[in-house]
Amino acid sequence: MSEFSNPNLEVLISAEKIQDRIRELGAEIARDYAGRNPLLIGVLKGAFIFLSDLMRAADLPLNVEFIAISSYGAEMRTSGEVRILKDLDVAIEGRHILVVEDIVDTGLTLSYLLANLKSRGAESVKLAALLDKYERREKEVPIDYLGFKIPDKFVVGYGLDFAERYRNLPFIAVLKNPEEAQMGLPMKPSEL
Ligand code: 5GP
Repeated sequence: MSEFSNPNLEVLISAEKIQDRIRELGAEIARDYAGRNPLLIGVLKGAFIFLSDLMRAADLPLNVEFIAISSYGAEMRTSGEVRILKDLDVAIEGRHILVVEDIVDTGLTLSYLLANLKSRGAESVKLAALLDKYERREKEVPIDYLGFKIPDKFVVGYGLDFAERYRNLPFIAVLKNPEEAQMGLPMKPSEL
């Protein structure tokens, strides 16, 4: 069964459009951070594909770290509660930080994270986000480098999951029927 042409998916942003936009963002980042050796912080897991493409489009010396934060469960809703599940391995005092996130939805996760990083004494903290679901914003979050604005739909692909599935899609798609997405799939390793 093909996953990439699954009829339960409606392509919203093609792989080609994503790559074109990332090339532009990478060039902008390389220009803005020239001579400053930024630290890119990827928010796990959703941002790992965007981060890996974005950093290869940014021609300048840089470092990479990861942080994991709890937000959504498999049940497609925000808890409002933000917890750091995996913290940074390095101090960021005096560093120029560029947080790399998959999607800004309510803005709760990012407003917490950006404030947290600033409080650690970073020299500057900016945000790159692939997607902006702007209609659902509850907390204002300045997005310095944005890929695309999208409507209020639940999306998967290019790192974004539904119940840990679909992260490998090379495009962004709307999931038409979430119930169907889990049908017939062995979800636990013990069932494989
Ligand atoms: P926020 O705190 O802005 O509401 O939530 C941001 C996080 O929620 C994102 O990092 C992402 O993990 C998750 N999220 C929000 N909207 C979507 C969506 O449409 N699809 C998926 N897969 N995750 C989403």
